[in-house]
Amino acid sequence: MTNLWSSMAQRAEPYIPGEQLNKENIIKLNTNENPYPPSPKVIEAISKEVGKDLRLYPSPTMEDLRCSIARYYGLETENVFIGNGSDEVLAFSFMAFFEPGKQILFPNITYSFYPVYAKLFHIPYKEVPLNSDFTVNVENFFHSDGGVIFPNPNAPTSIYLPLEYVEKIVQNNREKVVIIDEAYIDFAPESAVKLVNQYDNLLVIQTMSKSRALAGLRVGFALGNEQLIQALIRMKDSFNSYPIDRLAMAGAKAAIEDQAYFKETTEKILTTRTWVTKQLEALGFKVLPSSTNFVFASHPEMAAEKIYEELREKDMLIRYFGKEPIDNFVRITIGTRKEMEQFIETVGEIVG
Ligand SMILES: *Cc1c(COP(=O)(O)O)cnc(C)c1O
Repeated sequence: MTNLWSSMAQRAEPYIPGEQLNKENIIKLNTNENPYPPSPKVIEAISKEVGKDLRLYPSPTMEDLRCSIARYYGLETENVFIGNGSDEVLAFSFMAFFEPGKQILFPNITYSFYPVYAKLFHIPYKEVPLNSDFTVNVENFFHSDGGVIFPNPNAPTSIYLPLEYVEKIVQNNREKVVIIDEAYIDFAPESAVKLVNQYDNLLVIQTMSKSRALAGLRVGFALGNEQLIQALIRMKDSFNSYPIDRLAMAGAKAAIEDQAYFKETTEKILTTRTWVTKQLEALGFKVLPSSTNFVFASHPEMAAEKIYEELREKDMLIRYFGKEPIDNFVRITIGTRKEMEQFIETVGEIVG
């Protein structure tokens, strides 16, 4: 069949997401989903919307949701772009801001979707080595040829780069777009959103999938200067005018407006993260300093792959990346306190 495929289809190397097992009683700590349900107001808003106008196309401009997100961040509607999950927003951003033939920069340990897009769109890239403790040396990201993209906090290392350093990277790439993928920023100190009005080359991308517990709804967004947002809208409208359906728009709007629930669940996750980190350290694990809803850990006496496999036998899923230099680390999503108590007990038996 491959000879009927376009060259684009042939060169595609699809991203492989973490497994979604349809099994009961499994403790699922492998894809950084939120362990709590979305806000009850989200469910209410979606239910209401079901009874309304599904017969009609949704708004192609998504004004209503864009306005809610803008208000939350103290920006204007014109600074907001919305897509079907931040993965789609990332894909549009690669198309809109990175040029075939011009090398972009991202860290050598990072979200593994970036090389997938880069190959698909013929964008050469350099994987910039991190320091041995997995922190970023910002100067390595200055003066890129084609632009810069990185997650902050980084995935899967969980490490946060303070805003002053993010700003330095933006300042030293003024002619190119710098994309900060803030999928986990709500578990970290500070977003780069506050720099959006200052730098017209900064694009911040966020998602409702992690901190807002809406991975199943597929809503992501970008925040940036109006000129950047216009480019993303051009890409969207050349592809699909309606990437977000009516139910997703209603649910996402309710999620961003329910600040109290968001704060409560996020704080619970942070408290559990602190507890889990201490427990893992007591079991001999080395745990990187996390600013996300997961921890990245390795054990000096037992191979990460073995820990992953033995947990899997016991119906506990975590994520293992069999890839240098992180092949002795496992990534563990922070679940509920009860899930994590069971997890710690089981992992204790495995390494003990
Ligand atoms: C989860 C994640 C995304 C994708 O989120 P969706 O909005 O669910 O598509 C993007 N970037 C990073 C670094 C992530 O971890």
